[in-house]
Amino acid sequence: MAQQDVVVIGGGISGLSLAFYCSQAGMKTTLIEKNKTVGGSFASPHYSSDGDSFWLELGAHTCYSSYQNLLGIVEACGIADTIIPRAKVPFSLLLNGEVQSIMKGLNILELLRSAPNLFFMKKENQTVRSYYSKIVGENNYRNTVSHFFNAVPSQLTDDFPADMMFKSRPKRKDVLKNYTFKGGLQSVANAIAARNGIEVHTGSAAESAMMSGGRYIVRTADGQEHSAGALVLALPSAAAARLLQNVNQAVAHHLTQLKSADVDSIGVVVRKENVSLKPVAAIISPNDTFFSMVSRDTVKDDNFRGFAFHFRPGLDDNAKFKRISEVLGIGLPKIEHTVTKLNVVPSLRLGHREWARKADDLLIGTKNLYLTGNYFGGMAIEDCVARSHDEFDRMAAKR
Ligand SMILES: Cc1cc2nc3c(=O)[nH]c(=O)nc-3n(C[C@H](O)[C@H](O)[C@H](O)COP(=O)(O)OP(=O)(O)OC[C@H]3O[C@@H](n4cnc5c(N)ncnc54)[C@H](O)[C@@H]3O)c2cc1C
Repeated sequence: MAQQDVVVIGGGISGLSLAFYCSQAGMKTTLIEKNKTVGGSFASPHYSSDGDSFWLELGAHTCYSSYQNLLGIVEACGIADTIIPRAKVPFSLLLNGEVQSIMKGLNILELLRSAPNLFFMKKENQTVRSYYSKIVGENNYRNTVSHFFNAVPSQLTDDFPADMMFKSRPKRKDVLKNYTFKGGLQSVANAIAARNGIEVHTGSAAESAMMSGGRYIVRTADGQEHSAGALVLALPSAAAARLLQNVNQAVAHHLTQLKSADVDSIGVVVRKENVSLKPVAAIISPNDTFFSMVSRDTVKDDNFRGFAFHFRPGLDDNAKFKRISEVLGIGLPKIEHTVTKLNVVPSLRLGHREWARKADDLLIGTKNLYLTGNYFGGMAIEDCVARSHDEFDRMAAKR
């Protein structure tokens, strides 16, 4: 059985960034990921045809100059030169079958009447609905703006804590305001996984965790066992709760109080000449079967266009492809390539900060148990990496 300092379960950006910090500190680190590739919600499948190759994003797609922890890792991995700009194409609204500018969906008078509230209202202890309906007006919120918020975590966000949706953070002036990477965001995940000092096991889920002789033992579906002095869980909360049943019931129970949502993501690749839709960054269609359609038009390609539709869960494939065909205005035979992914996203509620504080209190009493993920400080990539940084600091302080 491999004897390591740290075993990290979950190969999304939360687990990868924590594994990165551990390996930098010289800790022997194993990372276990159930899928064949690392990345989790960093999913940039590639497609090749007749020598032309293309990628699209089935999950996260944009990074910002304020992602300072992420940028630190990118630089340490030597891939800062793969940062590329995103082309300026509009976020658009699909209304009555027509792609329109967002402004068309807004009542400007109501917006002007409500906007001064921005200077008086605080986001703390407000839901997305209670805060933003005051800032943009009740009707604007209901008819248009709420659908943009729903598109961010692909679920209804009325009850989300307002201060967890968009955060302002200090920005780096020497980096593009928003950017992606050559080859897509998954290339960042791959670069971290390739670091010396991180032993990566993909393609087999962690099935159980327990403590024996003062060390954690993690068993994977393919029958392997990994032993380490410290255990990191970087999984969706429900999966983390299941694995902790035999490790720490109090933490496991606390995790069961969180809810999450599944997002059925479908990516399609189409030859450029076969689709007449004007270039867009994303399309939001109020009250539709999908929360958003995110396009690859932000990184131009000579041959292909790619579109990721993030559907509500529970629809059958026929319904999903029918809608894709309607929105793109093309027949299904024109779709050259299709990829699917199930993303899991947290459903945060007011009071979440108290939940996170209590989680940290419980963790302090454990023996080298660490939790990271997108359900602590927020869902943004930088929130995940910042959480991993904090958990690594806690681990380093114990050494
Ligand atoms: C569609 C979409 C678009 C987004 N766009 C952006 C964006 O543009 N910018 C931004 O900042 N944020 C964006 N986000 C949010 C951000 O990408 C995520 O919050 C973040 O990537 C989550 O990382 P994570 O590692 O916490 O979780 P995940 O990426 O979900 O990783 C968890 C990993 O655990 C693995 N796993 C689960 N169970 C087991 C098990 N038993 N054993 C081993 N492995 C297991 C999973 O396979 C997965 O790889 C987006 C999210 C989604 C879903």
